[in-house]
Amino acid sequence: MNDQAKEKTIYSFELFPPKTPEGMEKLAVNIRRLNTVAPSYFSVTYGAGGSTRDRTFETVSLLRDLGINVAPHLSCIGSSRVEIQDILHQYQKAGIERIVALRGDLPSGMGATTSGELGYANELVSFIREETGKAFHIEVAAYPEVHPQAPSARKDLENFKRKVDAGADSAITQYFYNADAYFAFVEDCERLGVRIPIVPGVMPITNFSKLARFSDACGAEIPRWVRKRLENYGDDIDGIRDFGHQLVLNLCRRLIEGGAPGIHFYTMNQAAPTLRLWQDLGLPGTESIRP
Ligand code: FAD
Repeated sequence: MNDQAKEKTIYSFELFPPKTPEGMEKLAVNIRRLNTVAPSYFSVTYGAGGSTRDRTFETVSLLRDLGINVAPHLSCIGSSRVEIQDILHQYQKAGIERIVALRGDLPSGMGATTSGELGYANELVSFIREETGKAFHIEVAAYPEVHPQAPSARKDLENFKRKVDAGADSAITQYFYNADAYFAFVEDCERLGVRIPIVPGVMPITNFSKLARFSDACGAEIPRWVRKRLENYGDDIDGIRDFGHQLVLNLCRRLIEGGAPGIHFYTMNQAAPTLRLWQDLGLPGTESIRP
């Protein structure tokens, strides 16, 4: 890829809202470190049913105060139309121009009665367009390895298209470690006439047990050989990090060389693993990274 193409590519960093004031202070330090490479934007997750509402707002404000482009996530499950309307208007007032629109997953223990008025992300996208017209660039989620609750890959693809037809501008994928799944998904989308950019989500590997737990919950596959190699490192944290770095670096290289329109890094609120990847990929701004 030439330098001009790299400039147009979207590189974004995802954060989650910390639970404590100390966590927020630590995050502020990592945001400053991550921002030295000037990503296209930072996104901030939102707990389904509004469970992180205030903390998401606080994290979004922190980023805005630093003059950083921010895309808040907004999930509809467990929320009413009025609640969502209120959040959209607050974001509009704050000058936010990009939103990641999701269904979300209800935390266990919240029953069907709390599932809210919008059942799927395509309904949320339609609602955002009805309420705010073209005020927001809308990102939606995509699943190259198929959403865990989807009845089939075909149905999941059709459901993804519903979000695009409802007005989504681009998509971010669930993370995966098999580049072929991403390229096959993009090809399937093209065959269905879906033309929006589908940015691969990439999860750096730093901790095997956390990654395994996460992946089991969200349906992301860790290839058997990778699982086995990671298990072998036991408590050798540096070994896991170096192996994980090389694996994810090779994945990013394949994605970029294969024409992916950018990369969305699931930073897990840490700066070092993402910046190490950024540096070894030679992305713009690498020279600003301090050791
Ligand atoms: P949908 O697109 O609504 O799909 C959910 C399931 O329903 C799929 O199986 C789909 O095939 C099916 N489906 C979709 N539409 C229909 C329809 N009209 N009729 C019948 N079936 C349908 N979760 C959070 O709680 N907060 C976050 O901040 C958050 N951020 C995320 C960011 C990214 C990039 C990704 C990939 C996921 C994120 N998630 C987040 C997780 C996400 O909420 C879950 O994966 C959730 O289970 C599905 O959300 P969705 O928006 O993809 O749902």
